[in-house]
Amino acid sequence: MFATMEAARLEALHLTQDPVTGLKAIIAIHNTRLGPALGGCRYLVYPDEQSAIRDAVRLAQGMSYKAALAGVAQGGGKAVIIRPVHVANRGALFEAFGRFIETLNGRYITAVDSGSSSADMDCIAQHTQHVTSTTSEGDPSPHTAMGVFAGIRATALARLGGDDLQGLRVAVQGLGHVGYALAEQLHAAGVELLVSDLDRGRVQLAVEQLGAHPVASDALLATPCDILAPCGLGGVLNSETVGQLRCSAVAGAANNQLASADIADTLQARGILYAPDYVINSGGLIYVALRHRGESPAAITTHMARISQRLTEIYGHAQADKRSPARVADALAERLLYG
Ligand code: NAD
Repeated sequence: MFATMEAARLEALHLTQDPVTGLKAIIAIHNTRLGPALGGCRYLVYPDEQSAIRDAVRLAQGMSYKAALAGVAQGGGKAVIIRPVHVANRGALFEAFGRFIETLNGRYITAVDSGSSSADMDCIAQHTQHVTSTTSEGDPSPHTAMGVFAGIRATALARLGGDDLQGLRVAVQGLGHVGYALAEQLHAAGVELLVSDLDRGRVQLAVEQLGAHPVASDALLATPCDILAPCGLGGVLNSETVGQLRCSAVAGAANNQLASADIADTLQARGILYAPDYVINSGGLIYVALRHRGESPAAITTHMARISQRLTEIYGHAQADKRSPARVADALAERLLYG
């Protein structure tokens, strides 16, 4: 376990179990140099405890990088609750998790993530104030979508020479909370939308409401377009798919889009500009962090503008150094985290 922590440069790993509610939870605190660790709480079934711990550690590390480049004065952390097969009382389980967070005295702040909801955050909030994205604070997804939209404009400017999206072809993979909101904004900007989702109902909605062209899920990555926006699951860009892409840039919301770091170099070699995922999708983090601190909506909107500024800065360095934007982003984040 210490080897895993050392490899990820993880500060602390906290575990708890509660036989009364069935809670088995992990909180990974990656780096608190820039502020208390902030990151979502996953509530998922895992094949074994080791994979749950690995997930928490990997995701906490990602949150440190995201927070550092978003400039939100937060560290990176993540929680994983191993979802039991049978839950007698979900509310009681999340309340027990709230008591666990409280023992960390504010070193970790939680939020909604895969499998957890704002209602779960309300249960946590009964026992600690170190929680965001409760029902009163709302879903961060629209803010993530707003940031991705601004990031797509910055990407179009860098790669296509202008940030007017009118008439561009953008392929959106995944029309969930973020992807659909993004597609709405792209449609309003005059973009020709190509869309796919495993859920046919979501695709149908986009066809009817946004005039989108439906594309089969297994064909979307290879569809000719100006910009590809992966907004479904992570790992979509791998050694097999990267050769199929027929776009000028990749800029989307999904976390961990690159199956491995070297895929960024392949994209670079192919002349495809890649918007580092944790930079372009940081709008939700900015929203929850600033909202938790009591900042005004105007201050949040102002801070959101940093996403496109940061991307433009990264693209500038990448072009000057002939390196992938992903490598540049990692180096910038590591300078902030480790000096
Ligand atoms: P979501 O679960 O609401 O939506 C994901 C959608 O993608 C679903 O409709 C699903 O059917 C579809 N999908 C999955 N695999 C697909 C495939 N191969 N082809 C086509 N469609 C596919 O999730 P979300 O909240 O919209 O998040 C989307 C991505 O953005 C995730 O990777 C998430 O980690 C990341 N992200 C989300 C936020 C946020 O604020 N919600 C913030 C940062 C990053």
